[in-house]
Amino acid sequence: MRPIHIIAAACAALVCAAPASAALPEEGFLVYKDSRLSSATEVRAKGTGRLIATVEDGLQNAGSASACSDPTFELSGPRWKRFEEYRVNIASTPTYIRRAATLADLIAAHEAWESPFVTDCPQPSRTAYEAKYGGPTTRNASLVASLTADGLNVVSFQSLAGTVCDGATACVVLDFRNGRIREADMALEQDLTRYGFQDFWTTEDETWWNESGGRWAVSDAATHEWGHFAGLGHVDDSPSLTMYPFVHDGAQTLGLGDMLGIAARYNSKRDD
Ligand SMILES: [Zn+2]
Repeated sequence: MRPIHIIAAACAALVCAAPASAALPEEGFLVYKDSRLSSATEVRAKGTGRLIATVEDGLQNAGSASACSDPTFELSGPRWKRFEEYRVNIASTPTYIRRAATLADLIAAHEAWESPFVTDCPQPSRTAYEAKYGGPTTRNASLVASLTADGLNVVSFQSLAGTVCDGATACVVLDFRNGRIREADMALEQDLTRYGFQDFWTTEDETWWNESGGRWAVSDAATHEWGHFAGLGHVDDSPSLTMYPFVHDGAQTLGLGDMLGIAARYNSKRDD
């Protein structure tokens, strides 16, 4: 059992207990929820989906290091033992963006984590990590409250209302046991306007928003979420890195810490 920096579960009415050190249970689900203003990581129980622990990630003492000089990464969760295919629910793409362009963005965002990385920095190392697109599916991500895995790793746009991902722009759920990921699903909120802003997805590169609305690049959101899918956590003090919390512009291009993180996650023999 490896340590995870999680706030012990005593959360009621969105108010959590004081930080405490906790460890991941032997098995369960990790839920990464990212939105425009907040991000949270939850540990939930197998079978029931009961909330065990949560941490609100966010701006701490944000550093000023550039993407190519910040070596920070977080490996608090489980990882894949072998790399499995993922499938995309292409038909779930919002009608106002093109399906082909969206699928291309999703695939490229995952491949950013393979060697050679998608980065504007020198490549500090290589990784054994592999992104394996397995074709389309008609299924949605497994997000029901009881969190029952279906054996498929799925990416889908869907309503997150009433699910464990409610409130998120983008969300990843990992089913894990003994430090290994057994299944991972990525869900992107299909109707971003339901959060009260005129927010929409885009297959253009730029993510931007203001007090009334914005555009959320599939490439930015998905690259960050694939980091969770691969087993990386948030780096709260590193705004230039892809794994900085929140959906943010520039996430589609990996920084030094992102690359060092995936390399450490899959090139190390220490917990094999
Ligand atoms: Zn995140």
